[in-house]
Amino acid sequence: MNDKYISLANGPLKKIVKTLGLPAPVPLRRFDPADSAHGYLSEPILVLGETAGADALSQLLLDNDFSVHRTPNPGLRYQAIIAAYDGLTHPDQLQDTTLAIGAALRQLTRCGRVITVADAGVVFPHTTDADPALNAVRNAVTGITRSLAHEMRAGSTANGIVLDGVQPTAPSAVAALWFLLSAKSAYVSGQFLTVSSDRGTTTSAAEFAATGQTGPLNGAVAVVTGAARGIGAEIARVLHRDGAQVYGVDVPQAGQALAQTMNSIGGVAIQLDITAEHAGQQIMERVGAPIDILIHNAGITRDKLLANMDESRWASAIAVNISSQLRINESITAATGWGQAPRVVSLASIAGLAGNRGQTNYSASKAGVVGMVAAAAEDFAARSGTINAVAPGFIETDMTAAMPMVPRELGRRLSSLQQGGKPRDVAEAIAFFVQPAAGGINGKTLRVCGQSLLGA
Ligand code: NAD
Repeated sequence: MNDKYISLANGPLKKIVKTLGLPAPVPLRRFDPADSAHGYLSEPILVLGETAGADALSQLLLDNDFSVHRTPNPGLRYQAIIAAYDGLTHPDQLQDTTLAIGAALRQLTRCGRVITVADAGVVFPHTTDADPALNAVRNAVTGITRSLAHEMRAGSTANGIVLDGVQPTAPSAVAALWFLLSAKSAYVSGQFLTVSSDRGTTTSAAEFAATGQTGPLNGAVAVVTGAARGIGAEIARVLHRDGAQVYGVDVPQAGQALAQTMNSIGGVAIQLDITAEHAGQQIMERVGAPIDILIHNAGITRDKLLANMDESRWASAIAVNISSQLRINESITAATGWGQAPRVVSLASIAGLAGNRGQTNYSASKAGVVGMVAAAAEDFAARSGTINAVAPGFIETDMTAAMPMVPRELGRRLSSLQQGGKPRDVAEAIAFFVQPAAGGINGKTLRVCGQSLLGA
C-alpha cells in the first residue's frame, strides 16, 4: 500500500507541513542493483575519533575507494559520519568525538548515515569483573546513538556497530559497516549490530552489494516459509537477486500466489503447512540437497484481549509462529540436513519485544523467537553457522493496509523516520545476516522499524 502522505508532504503540501510542524517524512533511498555506486553515495565520509579503530576504519574505507576525511571541511557534504569510540575507558573521554558529530551533522547529506563503533559493554547479570567506568563508557555510546537517531532528519539514520571482543576490521564488523552505510539499511535506525567472533569472510564494499552470479549467495540453497506474499515473497526475491536458489514454502490455499512468486525467480514451490508434524522432513525431501539458508518467515496474528482469548487463537499463533520453527530446526539438525555453514533467520516483531494490547499470543510467540535464536546460537556456531532474528516494525503489507486508519497512521508516523517500512527493508536485513561475511553475528535480534516509538 502506498503512503500518500509522503508524496503530499514532499509535493503540494510541503509548505503547510513545514508551517504547521507536521511530520515531514522523506522518500528513503533504497538499494538498486543497477546503481553503479553499489548503494553507497558519492560524497566523502567523515571519520571521527582518535582511536586505533578510527585509523583502521579510515584505511579500510580508503582501500574501498571512498573519499575519507578525519576533520570536517565546512564547505562539504558528507554521506556518512563514522564515530569510533573503541578503547575508551571513562565517560569523560566521550565529549570530543560526540560534540564533533554534532558540529558536523548539518553537513550530512539527505538519507545520510551516522555509525558509531564501540566496544561491547556487559549487562547484569553477567559474571564479570568489568571496571564500572569502563562499562559506563561502553554503554554510554548506545545512549548517544539511540538519542541521536531520534534527532536525525531527512531520511538519515544513526546506528552502531558493537565490538564484542573483536577488532573493528573483523570480517563481520566490516560487513556490518557496508550494510549500515548502504541503502540496504534504509529503514534501520537506532539499532546495533553486535559482532562477537572473527568468523565470516572478508568482503569489499562492492562485493557486499554484488548481485546475481557474482552475488554473495551464489549457489546457496535457501528455504523461505510463508513465501507466497508479503514480506516472505520479497525475501525470496532478494535472496534470488543475491544469487541463491530459492525454495518457497506456503500453505496449499496460497498455492497459486506461491507458484507465481516462485516462477518469477526460477524458484521451487513447496505447498506445505509448516505446523504439520513432519514438515521439516518434507522440506528436506523436496529440496533434496543440504539447506544452506532457512528463513522462518511464515507467521499469523490471532488478536484478542487475554480476557477473551480462546484456545484455538492461542494455540494457532504459538504453533505457526514458534513451535513449528523449533520442530523444523530440530528435524533438520537430527537428519544432518544443514549445509556446511547454515544460516537461519527468524521473523520476530517489535510487538514481541515490547508487548502489544490484544497480542499476548503473538507477543509470546515472537518473544519466543528472540529467546530461541539466543539459545540456539552456540549450536549453530559449532556448525560454522548462525541463527538470528529480525524484528520488523510497521511494514506496508496487506496485513497493515487492512488496519483501521488511526492505528495505521500512528504506526507509520510514530517512528524516527515518520513512515512505514517496505517488505524490501526486512528482506535486505535478512539477506545481510545470511551473507558469508556475517558469520560473526550470531544469536542476535535486529529491529527493522525506523526506530519505532511503539514497541520501544
Ligand atoms: P502475510 O500474512 O502477508 O504473509 C504470511 C505468509 O505466511 C502467507 O503467505 C501465509 O499463507 C503464510 N503462512 C501462514 N501460516 C502458514 C503455515 N502454517 N504454513 C505455511 N505458510 C503459512 O504476513 P507478512 O506481513 O508478510 O509477515 C511476514 C512475517 O513478518 C510474519 O512472521 C509476521 O509476524 C512478521 N511481521 C510482520 C510485520 C508487518 O508489519 N507486516 C511486522 C512485524 C512482524
